[in-house]
Amino acid sequence: MAESNLSLRLVLFGPPGAGKGTQGQLLKDQLSIPQITSGDLFRFHLRNETELGKRAGEFMRQGLLVPDEVTIDIVMDKVLELAPEEGFLLDGFPRTLNQAEALDAALSERSRGLDSVVFINVPDDELIRRLSGRYTCRECQAPHGASEEGEAPKKCSSCGGELYQREDDRAEAIAKRLEVYKEETLPLLGFYEQRRILADVPGLGSVEEVNGRVLEALGAGRG
Ligand SMILES: [Zn+2]
Repeated sequence: MAESNLSLRLVLFGPPGAGKGTQGQLLKDQLSIPQITSGDLFRFHLRNETELGKRAGEFMRQGLLVPDEVTIDIVMDKVLELAPEEGFLLDGFPRTLNQAEALDAALSERSRGLDSVVFINVPDDELIRRLSGRYTCRECQAPHGASEEGEAPKKCSSCGGELYQREDDRAEAIAKRLEVYKEETLPLLGFYEQRRILADVPGLGSVEEVNGRVLEALGAGRG
């Protein structure tokens, strides 16, 4: 394969519980591209009390959802500061059709478009099983699954920290998250299919198996 000095520009996309975070961690090292997560960007702007942070904070303090246009501005601020040859891996954005269109427009006018959108495809029953057995480390935020028998893990396997079940990983909340995902995020499939940049990757199996499929779909497979 010819050497290219263009790094890949990717979106990692899929339902809650599909393993986007885990795959993103692997891919950013394997592909040497920065992982851009909307959650990290929000935390950065809030902590540093930037203009964007103040705009988002106003809504958050009132317990309101941050409007799409604020989220879009926060992500674009980061994405558009990258040189056109630089790559990235977006995780947690876009989450709505509106966000996807804004990303598309901004990149095509002011930079370079996406190379691929990786959809990690996992059936509902498996998502529910995974999400309801998910525990988060208080120290390092690493996710942990329940055992095969559904038993809760005791301590974080990476740092020994205490584990807890996030509010949105409890049963009632899971059904709601999947519903919101289907309504707001799933329409992105058609949007990216039309642009012929969608890679539909089966998300069942081990982390390594899924990772291998993603790399293969990106044409970045080993050997
Ligand atoms: Zn930990």
